Amino acid sequence: MSGWIDRHPRQVPTEVPELDLGALPPGRHHLAVALTSDGMGQPVRAPVIVVKGAAGSGPVVGVTAAVHGNELNGIPTIHRLMKTLDPANMKGAVLAVTVVNVPGYLRNERRFPDHTDLNRVMPGRDGGRESSLYAHRLTERVLGTLDVLVDLHTASFGLVNRLHVRADMRDPATARLARTLGTEIIVHHEGVEGTLRTSLADRGVRAVTVELGDPQSIDRDKARDARIGIRDCLEGLGMVPPDAQEARRGAIECARSHWLHTDAGGFLEVTARLGARVAEGEVVATLVDPWGGLLRTYRAPKAGVVVSRSTNPVASSGARILHLGLEGRPGA
Ligand SMILES: [Zn+2]
Repeated sequence: MSGWIDRHPRQVPTEVPELDLGALPPGRHHLAVALTSDGMGQPVRAPVIVVKGAAGSGPVVGVTAAVHGNELNGIPTIHRLMKTLDPANMKGAVLAVTVVNVPGYLRNERRFPDHTDLNRVMPGRDGGRESSLYAHRLTERVLGTLDVLVDLHTASFGLVNRLHVRADMRDPATARLARTLGTEIIVHHEGVEGTLRTSLADRGVRAVTVELGDPQSIDRDKARDARIGIRDCLEGLGMVPPDAQEARRGAIECARSHWLHTDAGGFLEVTARLGARVAEGEVVATLVDPWGGLLRTYRAPKAGVVVSRSTNPVASSGARILHLGLEGRPGA
């Protein structure tokens, strides 16, 4: 058997010590930005794609993926989004980091190799430990010029998510961005200290998080929906001309959300469907012992929508059952 492999020429990225957006000419740029070096003394570089418009100035929109190193569905989303952008008729720039947590990605792990969640130590600290220094360099060398950030995540192990966005909906510009992304659900969340989203929002960046798909896998439908939504945001910002594809409108908006956890261990079966609206008191899950004896019946404490749910039946006490969104707008 021969001829079954097509070998394509490799496009070698340009290695740079930092991203200088102002110095780049309009066009498409594949960059490898040096951040740190590993135990072999080899540089760890962030893969960055920049499309800079030739049609005038405009916002700088960042799209990031894999800050959790095993949350990969944002990567093909970015690849396909960037291919749809034509610098000739674009204003401003789109700056994408396809893999934020390079060391975690290489290990198929969510966390950074020093066992820290990189998405809790942003914007990092010069002179800090491994993850903190990496975060600091990333912030300083790559993310310094953003006006808007869309940070792409997936569910974590043992959970599935509806395509949803998390955003601080009290800020009108951020809320507009969240609604334009065309996800099924929007969950208002002020943000957690140390996340990429919050660290940039503190600097005045309009920043949202999108959850699309499952860890360590590709979900083409969700990647496509997210790509169309991000493209719609660029249209809404006046950066690119409208195209034929339109994201869904009319997301279910949640003013608050809660995780429900088990209070005992056993074999968990979540009966509430993902994305379903459940009524207060409706049975959402059961827990049985290894002989099938019923231990618990869990009911929705309030009416809500199932944003995420467990897929892992092996439940210790305190295991996650589901993430319940409570519909409404913050402050309303
Ligand atoms: Zn994540």
